[in-house]
Amino acid sequence: MMKEYALKTAQGGFAAGKAFLIEAAEAHPEEKAAEKEVEKAAFEKAVSILEKELSQAEERAEKDAAELFEMERMLLKDASFYDTTIGLIRASDMSAAAAVQKAGDILGERLRGSSEYNSQRGEDLRGIAARLAGIIRGEKASAPERASVIVAKELSPARLSAIDPGLIRGIVTAKGAPTSHVSILAGNLGVPYVYGSDEALETIRKETKLILEDGKLTIEPDDEIFREAVQRMEAEQKAKEERIKRAQGAKRRTKVYANIKGPEDIDELLRSGADGVGLFRSEFLFLKGDGTPSEEEQFSAYRSVAEAMDGKETVIRTFDLGSDKKADWLEMPDEKNPALGCRGVRLCLREDELFKTQLRALLRAAVFGNIRIMIPMVTSVREIDAVRAKLGECAKELSAEHTAYEVPPVGVMVETPAAAMIADRLAKKADFFSIGTNDLIQYTLALDREAQELDEYYDPRHEAVLRLIGETAAAGHKEKIPTAICGELASDPAAIPALIRLGVDELSVSMPKVAQTKVHAAGAESMQEVVAEEAFPTGRGISVAAPADGELIPMAEIPDPAFSSGALGDCAGILPENGNIYAPCDGVVSAVAETKHAITFTADDGRRILLHIGIDTVYLAGRGFALRVKEGDAVSAGDPVMVVDLDLIREAGFSPIVITALG
Ligand code: PEP
Ligand code: MG
Repeated sequence: MMKEYALKTAQGGFAAGKAFLIEAAEAHPEEKAAEKEVEKAAFEKAVSILEKELSQAEERAEKDAAELFEMERMLLKDASFYDTTIGLIRASDMSAAAAVQKAGDILGERLRGSSEYNSQRGEDLRGIAARLAGIIRGEKASAPERASVIVAKELSPARLSAIDPGLIRGIVTAKGAPTSHVSILAGNLGVPYVYGSDEALETIRKETKLILEDGKLTIEPDDEIFREAVQRMEAEQKAKEERIKRAQGAKRRTKVYANIKGPEDIDELLRSGADGVGLFRSEFLFLKGDGTPSEEEQFSAYRSVAEAMDGKETVIRTFDLGSDKKADWLEMPDEKNPALGCRGVRLCLREDELFKTQLRALLRAAVFGNIRIMIPMVTSVREIDAVRAKLGECAKELSAEHTAYEVPPVGVMVETPAAAMIADRLAKKADFFSIGTNDLIQYTLALDREAQELDEYYDPRHEAVLRLIGETAAAGHKEKIPTAICGELASDPAAIPALIRLGVDELSVSMPKVAQTKVHAAGAESMQEVVAEEAFPTGRGISVAAPADGELIPMAEIPDPAFSSGALGDCAGILPENGNIYAPCDGVVSAVAETKHAITFTADDGRRILLHIGIDTVYLAGRGFALRVKEGDAVSAGDPVMVVDLDLIREAGFSPIVITALG
């Protein structure tokens, strides 16, 4: 019988498929411990088998995922995990499998609660312990034979990676978290992932039919519904592929750059079609080894990326260590609030030798490409002066040594409210701005960026954040320097229209998101620029944010005389590519049609803007329209106001064109 559950979303999206169950390694009731030395050897053998599996997975994986496997291997080799397991084997009559699971529970529990990051590592450790217990008990890591939805009580990245990515349609787990490694892997695969209900998991059997959609899990839908869902999923996949193809050719002013971690990303970077590198997180070079990477190592890393970019901008951030990115070999102060402690530029300026080694490498590499240096976690003008002074010292040294160098432009990362509020002064000293929204949101909303329990407070498009972005971009433009966004917000389709409206010039996103971000940026731009200047015939010079992502249709071509004649005011249409509908202006929702297909907004300057979804869609009597706002709600341009089922509209024989009319 069909059942629906509301779950938490770690990765959004739509999928339909049959369940492939991964059972947890349960303790066998008859499991008896052998000699302690035999149990100890069984544990150690399982560790080496899993270590090999993880190394193989790391070699096969794309870069982001490879780092996760590296981290899993580190957890696996963690001394306290080893000692606790051996201690339990020695001090009790537990088998190796039972002891390793118990150790996972004990340490997982200990890590829980200290910080979100540690809680997550605790969950990862439990996953590793479960996998080790499975290996000791001789359980084989089974894999689905056809594309399926992976269902497990708990899932570790190692277990997930044993499955061919082409066979994973979606993931459902009882335990999970949006920032877990499994979630990041699901994001890389582009599949939805929901979690959070033991009860739902208990209902699912092998081959149970499932539909996942943004936090909703449907178990055993009717055949007809399931068939339609599979068709929808396949159609969405095809549309996505086509969109990516089109993205390469779309006209666009906003540059779309990629975020990378090092030269190992070059192949994917080139494949992504990025206009440049907007954020090279250089600290990852420092986190890999057991000491400072030498000037030569760094020089070669920076140079190889800059050369691969062949003249395109390559923005390299000086090491942003500290907080959750700690290098074991670097002595750090014991801090109660490391996110508010010695991190970013503060650490760069404290570690003089380390910093100068990096700056020398950057100055030398700048001879070989279009390198730009970016300073993280700035809060004052003084810090830019100090970095520039250090660059001057390094340049002097290199020149005395007759070593070739160039002093590249220096930009400021705006990721503290302080930096955003003094952006006018920083702009006089900087060559560019790049807004790190991950941290800017954390510091503006006073919300730990890893916190899960505070989900409800996490609002990346909070008015305060958008205002800080707008003020930063305006201050940059006044001094004629560009502003980029390099945090996650840059690839949020619902935010892109607002970011562009606020004057952001560049979006830097993770490599898999470059293509789709280009499409969203082009859609938002065409609406905002063309609508104001071309589409509204009277040319009122009005800026209207794109209410949808897609192709602009001028007023005369809207296939309904009520609109194309201008009877309802100056209009423009967008042929939507997806069902997301956004507010066209800052203002208030002044009316919502009972049939939900039309919303009127009163803009802050008193203009009235009608948003009409589809032609003749009034006859759907509300079917296919999911409102996100109600009358009287205040909105900002770009806020999501509705989700529309485009397939339903098309299947009913109507055009889904989104029309904006200025009355
Ligand atoms: C940010 O804070 O938005 C950012 C891009 O830097 P990181 O995520 O590396 O802190
Ligand atoms: Mg940051």
